[in-house]
Amino acid sequence: MVIAGLGDSGVLTAIKLAKHADVVGISAKPGLVSGQELGWRLSRPGDWARHNWISFDKFRGLDRVRTVHGMLTGVDLAARKVFLEHSDGTAGAESYDALVISTGVTNGFWRRPDLQSDEEIAAGLRAAHERLADAESVIVVGGGAAAVSSAANVARTWPAKRVGLYFPGERALAHHHDRVWEQVRGRLIEFGVELHPGHRAVIPDSFDGSEITSAPVQFSTGQLEATADAVLWATGRVRPNTDWLPAELLDENGFVRVTPELRVPDHPGVFAIGDVAATDPLRTSARNRADSLLVKNILAESAGRSLRSFRPAHRRWGSVLGIQPDGLEVFAPNGRPFRFPSWSFERVLMALVVRRGIYRGVRENRPLS
Ligand SMILES: Cc1cc2nc3c(=O)[nH]c(=O)nc-3n(C[C@H](O)[C@H](O)[C@H](O)COP(=O)(O)OP(=O)(O)OC[C@H]3O[C@@H](n4cnc5c(N)ncnc54)[C@H](O)[C@@H]3O)c2cc1C
Repeated sequence: MVIAGLGDSGVLTAIKLAKHADVVGISAKPGLVSGQELGWRLSRPGDWARHNWISFDKFRGLDRVRTVHGMLTGVDLAARKVFLEHSDGTAGAESYDALVISTGVTNGFWRRPDLQSDEEIAAGLRAAHERLADAESVIVVGGGAAAVSSAANVARTWPAKRVGLYFPGERALAHHHDRVWEQVRGRLIEFGVELHPGHRAVIPDSFDGSEITSAPVQFSTGQLEATADAVLWATGRVRPNTDWLPAELLDENGFVRVTPELRVPDHPGVFAIGDVAATDPLRTSARNRADSLLVKNILAESAGRSLRSFRPAHRRWGSVLGIQPDGLEVFAPNGRPFRFPSWSFERVLMALVVRRGIYRGVRENRPLS
């Protein structure tokens, strides 16, 4: 079995599948570099990295998986083979009986598909942190969880900075339940974030979101331009990492077409999961943990048994602000918050629920000193 892309969904799928089959995981990074918790990552990168940047050899569940550090470049669906460029520049290929496509999406400067070494990942984390640390004023453009969590965490970590959050609607977090915004809005105000609803920023044509900028921000909604030392663009313009796949597998927006069973139509043995998979409008199979269902379906297909369907949630849910001094707040799809007190975050949530329960054992990890 080949897992193409070892991010949040690929790692979980590989861990589960390795109990039943020989698994090869191919990844542009030498470890899991999670796309989650942008605000925490920018404001406290060392702490974030301990929980969210984990080299593959730290996962006990991946001990049986052969991980390959390389960039996928193509697939031959008839011959059941993927092609890649290894980190040393040589070309390679891997054959599969089943292929899981989990190459995720590109988003801003924090989720890039490029082939990177540990040193390059560390340098990127430090550079973004230092850029914000040095700025006296910060503008965050966007109204989703990445923008909101960035504004909140930057303002809380550096109370002397002027932090403004600019978003187009009357409220931010439009894909979450109303109750989530009500609660999070209160925290933003408490941390001193200036809220600017009704501001739709003009995204320059040539700009792909891959850097923190400093030019004035213009608005198509009529307001005067806004300026700050650092402008963080988190406008949710995601691009699927599917350049290596043939067009016949993709929908009109470049995401991988899937059936409710997470199969790629007309291609037995090919599946997709995570942000790259066109499961539902919000593409929620990663956060709704479809990896268990996917593994069952891969095994069922090869045994000729019937497959089960993924049921997407219609609203975004989960943590928005990440861990704070008073604990971690997680919102259910109905907007109700559940708070883990701060004492329980390391000892219960991360140690037992995440590292042991979700990842089946993670060795001590401190990648960014
Ligand atoms: C346990 C869990 C909890 C979550 N909690 C929340 C939450 O609270 N709130 C929330 O909003 N969301 C949450 N999410 C969801 C999260 O926001 C994203 O949906 C998730 O990070 C997407 O995972 P992915 O595997 O699809 O993509 P990614 O994690 O981006 O993985 C894709 C990987 O493929 C690699 N890649 C890309 N192209 C290539 C190529 N050509 N060759 C080789 N490698 C390539 C990338 O470098 C990357 O490593 C959660 C997800 C999980 C699994």
